[in-house]
Amino acid sequence: MTKFKELGLKDEIIKALDEMGFEEVFPIQEACIPVLLSNRDVIGQAHTGSGKTAAFALPILQQITPKKGIQAMVIAPTRELAMQIAGEMKKFAKYTGIKTATVYGGQGMGIQLDALDRGVEIIVATPGRLIDHLKRGSIELRNVQHVVLDEADTMLDMGFIDDIQFILDLTPEERTMSLYSATMPTEILRLAEEYLKNAKQFLLDADDLSGEGIDQGYLVIKDRDKFNYLIDFIKPVKGQIIVFCSTKYRTRDVAKYLHQEKYDAVAIEGDMSQHRREQAMAKFRSGKADILVATDVASRGIDVPRVELVINYDVPNQDMVYFHRIGRTARAGLKGRAITFVSYSSVGDWNLIKRQIKTDLKDLNKEMGIEIKIPDPLKRQIPSRRYGGSGRSSYSRGSRSGGYGRSSRSGSSDDKGRDKKRYESRGGQNRYGGRSKW
Ligand code: ADP
Ligand code: MG
Repeated sequence: MTKFKELGLKDEIIKALDEMGFEEVFPIQEACIPVLLSNRDVIGQAHTGSGKTAAFALPILQQITPKKGIQAMVIAPTRELAMQIAGEMKKFAKYTGIKTATVYGGQGMGIQLDALDRGVEIIVATPGRLIDHLKRGSIELRNVQHVVLDEADTMLDMGFIDDIQFILDLTPEERTMSLYSATMPTEILRLAEEYLKNAKQFLLDADDLSGEGIDQGYLVIKDRDKFNYLIDFIKPVKGQIIVFCSTKYRTRDVAKYLHQEKYDAVAIEGDMSQHRREQAMAKFRSGKADILVATDVASRGIDVPRVELVINYDVPNQDMVYFHRIGRTARAGLKGRAITFVSYSSVGDWNLIKRQIKTDLKDLNKEMGIEIKIPDPLKRQIPSRRYGGSGRSSYSRGSRSGGYGRSSRSGSSDDKGRDKKRYESRGGQNRYGGRSKW
């Protein structure tokens, strides 16, 4: 096992890593750090919870200089993830004199302008607010040497690509750029070539994304029975739990029910004020709340080590979303459990995801002796087509069954104004009545 010192990192960084209890270098870090230190571009695909943040953060801290302006930029799809990355960056940077600013929507411009005025070397940002700063001149990317797209498949997806293009156009040609995600669809890899130069690629096998280390199961039940089963599953759990719902409304409802049952639950969804989102996340991170009920705004990147169980209260709209959601447990080599509730109308969607799960998957109906009684008309709706092609299959079905399905990976931003623009620019089609779904 390699130690961080052997990678040639500065003593100031090693000291912080020691304090954080980072002893051994994780494989993706061992792979990426030397390549980035030689200023070659990188595509880093590695499982959820495998330590991708340090893989890009440490080389940045090694190479940039305090008090010389913004030299590195990390872009992430959600506010919570941007805050988390900045928090981790600040811990690594504790003894280096390097400062990080977090730039995201929903927070007053004033706070961010003050932070920028004091001088920073690294910015961690969501695209929408970053563009606002670039347009008003409060952020300048001329001296940026390191660019990172975290959750890169989302960042290069339709919904974000124009924003990313705008931002990258303002960075120097001579930059080291790297992309990270647990999922890297081939079309995204192809697109990435336009932005990267001779990148060293670390990729997982297509069938390696199986949620290893996560004990997975599913239960087919009537939608209206879900809440009772939820209580049954969460009752015996000692660690923390995340419950993913498909819409903001469901998220609020489930959180409300849990409060009625006297659980310490917090919710996160896109309609909440930024202040309340931050309060909820802080309560969950500190362990003051046991349960986080969330839309997919929390499905990517969020790292809370005590999460022991992930419950998909609703079937995710796509296999990649499934793997990101369940990847909120079993972080950094720990064990975890994931249970998916499948309502009768979602059996078709679930079957498509199930095919991608290559590890053992528990049929909880069998284990618990719960009979499935799908009415005939619903059986006929079960599709045989895969997602991805026209996108119509998942969406049109989804809208009939109450709007759960979402056919596109885009719209991962919680920058609401921009989401709206994005949907409008795609032929005026706004599936969510002008508001982002989560
Ligand atoms: P990913 O981005 O791959 O999903 P993260 O970067 O969020 O994973 O890291 C997952 C967890 O592992 C975090 O809590 C992080 O602090 C921890 N971690 C990362 N690298 C190490 C290491 N080398 N030693 C110990 N813990 C680590
Ligand atoms: Mg990550």
